[in-house]
Amino acid sequence: MRAISILGSTGSIGCNTLNVVRLHPDKFNIFALSSYTNTDLLCTQAIEFRPSVIVTKDAISAKKIHGLIKNTYTPEILHGLSGYRFIARANEATDIVAAISGSAGLLPTMDAIIHGKKILLANKEAMVMAGSLMIDSCSKFNAKLIPVDSEHNAIFQIIHSNSDNNAINKIILTASGGPFRDFTIDQLSDVTVDEALNHPNWVMGKKITIDSATMMNKGLEVIEAAYLFDIPIEKIDVLIHPQSIIHSFVEFLDGSLISQLGYPDMKIPISYALGFPDRIKSGIEGIKLEEANDLTFDSPDNDLFPCLNLAYQAFSMGMASTIILNAANEVAVDAFLKKIIPFTEIPTLINSALQSWAPNKPSNIEDVLAIDSEMRIKTMSLIAKR
Ligand code: NDP
Ligand code: MG
Repeated sequence: MRAISILGSTGSIGCNTLNVVRLHPDKFNIFALSSYTNTDLLCTQAIEFRPSVIVTKDAISAKKIHGLIKNTYTPEILHGLSGYRFIARANEATDIVAAISGSAGLLPTMDAIIHGKKILLANKEAMVMAGSLMIDSCSKFNAKLIPVDSEHNAIFQIIHSNSDNNAINKIILTASGGPFRDFTIDQLSDVTVDEALNHPNWVMGKKITIDSATMMNKGLEVIEAAYLFDIPIEKIDVLIHPQSIIHSFVEFLDGSLISQLGYPDMKIPISYALGFPDRIKSGIEGIKLEEANDLTFDSPDNDLFPCLNLAYQAFSMGMASTIILNAANEVAVDAFLKKIIPFTEIPTLINSALQSWAPNKPSNIEDVLAIDSEMRIKTMSLIAKR
């Protein structure tokens, strides 16, 4: 029986993980769940799955949760960063689902690595900020990272059955292209928050949905792939595939191109990661290929969506620059969601941040977090000055 802590159980990945766990009561039990703002959903999840520990944002929400569930059962209720960190490293937990969105997930994910856990990694921003530190710590502390991001999960599945890294010519990450794939630059400057949140294929949290619309999501994924698979970034390409049926390819030196196909539903990669190295049911049917006869592919439009190239550029500039990229992006996306800046200003701000500042290379997580908070403040001041 595996005992699971879910960091971010109230989010899209967290809920989908519980949907898969629900299918396998003989294989998994939930040790801990966590929310940030959604205490009602956390209570509903806790009453169903009876975790020993639950974590929420602050003391007020912890008290509220206690009041709501005390007549059902009495778990330990923790709050704040120390609580998230506790469930990531507790001895009782074997598997940690890293599904907090953004940089807030970095420290708990790192804790899980340092404690040698099996980590189901959704939180790509942690990897973009501190990929090399995370990968080094995985080997040092014998932790196992299984990617949940659908593209990386696909590549992991392919590489796992064709293990020689030297035989890989390139990795091709597929991208839906988001809701604005066929827009002109003029049309893009007027898009609304609701339009940007209306992803054609995937139902996800707000931040990653905006990242998909700007193509920054693919940029973050290119960096994530370079670290996870130890592949030079020049060997990672992006291909627009609007139907989101093929979840990336690996091209081998003999000319073979291998891919993984599935309906766009995160329960598939989540169940692979949960079951690894075994396969378990996800609740999703296999593709009906006779209905999938319109699979198309195209190159990304880098003029319309500059974020993808900014990510390549930041990676080649070094780790301090990927922290800037991520911090400036998180601040810019938040400002767009709050209707403070237009959509097309997201890449402009990130570009200014990347060109303006050059902090020293971080050598540990404390350095990473210090650069992250400095860059957030600086990006906010760029927004205030405009
Ligand atoms: P959501 O916004 O749906 O969920 C985020 C989760 O993190 C929620 O449980 C939220 O709590 C919690 N959270 C938010 N901020 C904090 C914080 N400061 N401290 C602690 N917890 C916090 O995001 P997704 O599930 O869509 O994405 C999660 C991660 O997975 C992201 O890094 C994303 O890039 C990645 N990912 C997601 C995919 C998807 O299909 N959704 C696909 C591939 C990767 P609450 O809701 O209670 O406020
Ligand atoms: Mg993805």
